[in-house]
Amino acid sequence: VVIYHPSDERYKKYENKLARIPIWDLEVPILAHPSADPDFGKSGIMMICSFGDITDIRVFRELNLKPKYIINPDGTLNDLAGKKYSGLTIDEARKIITDDLKEIGKIRSEKIVSHRFPTSERSHAKLEFIGMPELYLKQENFVKKLKKYADKMEFLPEKSRQIWLDWLEKISMDWPITRRRYYGTEVPLWYCNECNETIVPKGVSYYQPWKDPAPIDNCPNCSGTSFKGETRIFDTWMDSSISAYYILKYPHNQSVDEDFTNDLLDRDFICDIRPQGKDIVRTWLHYSMLRGYLHFNQPMFNKAWISGHVVSETGEKMSKSKGNSIDPMKIIEKYGGDAL
Ligand SMILES: [Zn+2]
Repeated sequence: VVIYHPSDERYKKYENKLARIPIWDLEVPILAHPSADPDFGKSGIMMICSFGDITDIRVFRELNLKPKYIINPDGTLNDLAGKKYSGLTIDEARKIITDDLKEIGKIRSEKIVSHRFPTSERSHAKLEFIGMPELYLKQENFVKKLKKYADKMEFLPEKSRQIWLDWLEKISMDWPITRRRYYGTEVPLWYCNECNETIVPKGVSYYQPWKDPAPIDNCPNCSGTSFKGETRIFDTWMDSSISAYYILKYPHNQSVDEDFTNDLLDRDFICDIRPQGKDIVRTWLHYSMLRGYLHFNQPMFNKAWISGHVVSETGEKMSKSKGNSIDPMKIIEKYGGDAL
């Protein structure tokens, strides 16, 4: 779709008309939408495509449009991008498309502009969005409850409460918990090769479904006998968010079927304090409290002790990739360990 801001008088006459995209010869609707910034570029007109940036993805979801997946997982374009561009990388295609637009006289002027683009924090490689099916843990429905926890919990210092409250305010999707990487905690699921039924193992054990056989012989749905194991791993915060259970030795200090709110655990259950850095309030603290709510319907901690960062002389976070950190050994030699 092509959008303009509802207050932008210049385009009212185009509302609900169609615009034709050169080269692909597609017709797309023109709509008024508050996501368009009247000062964007010169025109204030925004082209919304399936995965251009976060705004595009948001508008697509909101308008319930069907996204087109034109980029393969290896970063090349597929046939949906057009036969001529299929197989090219984004940068290669961008150059050829510019030439093609010139050839048909659709480029009015050329100049260098700077714009925001998502990049990898470490490699600085340019990133593209590629839609993939993933497992999500529900959280949107529970924001209200978690806000109550945030209000009741003691924060040290008090002002750090707002970090979590701000995060809760911004939650607009559930938590994607699967990752397509090699190292991490395996997701303990198998799928029936006949009917695709999901097989969840019973009991507590560590499973490696990519190499372990399924924990059952027959599919409960179709009696099928062949299964494929999950190859994805969990988001690291799936592990970290149950560190309180680990402290309490849950569930190994009791039978798994026993109600967790027995006497012993009633006494010990809520951990007194979570000490952690402010940068992971939205992950470690937030997900720990979410998991506690989902599993036991109670907060995991009474207090959160949130520490700040030692920053560089310019106020930036110190990091290895930026090379702006100080070698502690030199400071210790000069001033001693206590002073540091
Ligand atoms: Zn089956």
